[in-house]
Amino acid sequence: MGRVYLVGAGPGAPDLLTVRAVRVLESADIVFHDALVSPEVLRLIARGAEVVDVGKRSGQKLLTQEEINALLVSTAASHETVVRLKGGDPLIFGRAGEEIEALREAGVDFEVVPGISAAFGAAAAAGISLTDRRAASQVVLSTFSRGTQNTAFDWASITPATTLVLYMPHQAYREVAQRLRDAGFPDDLPCVIVSNATTPRQQIRWTNVAGLAHQEKLPAPALLIVGRVAARKVREIGAAFWQREPGPATQRASVS
Ligand code: SAH
Repeated sequence: MGRVYLVGAGPGAPDLLTVRAVRVLESADIVFHDALVSPEVLRLIARGAEVVDVGKRSGQKLLTQEEINALLVSTAASHETVVRLKGGDPLIFGRAGEEIEALREAGVDFEVVPGISAAFGAAAAAGISLTDRRAASQVVLSTFSRGTQNTAFDWASITPATTLVLYMPHQAYREVAQRLRDAGFPDDLPCVIVSNATTPRQQIRWTNVAGLAHQEKLPAPALLIVGRVAARKVREIGAAFWQREPGPATQRASVS
């Protein structure tokens, strides 16, 4: 029986992997990776290891999640070091929970090797302190693109002192901006789009909720950081934002 390593590949730059992740990749017998993992990181995989792409291509899944779960379990019976390589951190929007459950149920030994999630790669790229004490008290990592009702975006968790990091803003920026405005986010609340953070293809756009609607779409993968911390000069922001027209989000957030 082998061991399955769920490894975080980080946001893109190969030297942002952990030392442990590199060691595991160098000793891998077989690697199942997502489409998001950069070519620079894939080059760190041991020569001779089997490399299997189980990711999505233009919305088309190569393998279902159930098939991937089963594959991890069955491969562990014949290979010593099995690696499941995911972009960023494996435990953030990575469906690792389902894989861990399948491995546990089958009694397969596993280990999670954390990685730098895209939120942190993007914040570093833009030089934004996500919890800047002058402007934020909490960080919410979320996405608008969850299918199921019981994990849909929860506006009640958002306060004026929230930094919101939105993964996978697949939707048109105009739609995202509209949802933020509908929830009571003020037009001049700063936000930053970061595309391909930490890679040579990195692009950063500084804007605000109103301006977001008119931004040209940047290449995927990209994420959005929204909140007072995303201002160019946080020290000048004070409490100005959110005090004008409290929308449904602020009202709901104040109900305990
Ligand atoms: N487990 C990953 C997230 C997987 S979901 C992590 O912890 O980062 C995929 C989403 O992550 C993308 O749609 C995008 O929103 C974000 N993402 C991943 N890599 C990124 C990068 N280099 N720059 C910006 N966003 C990125």
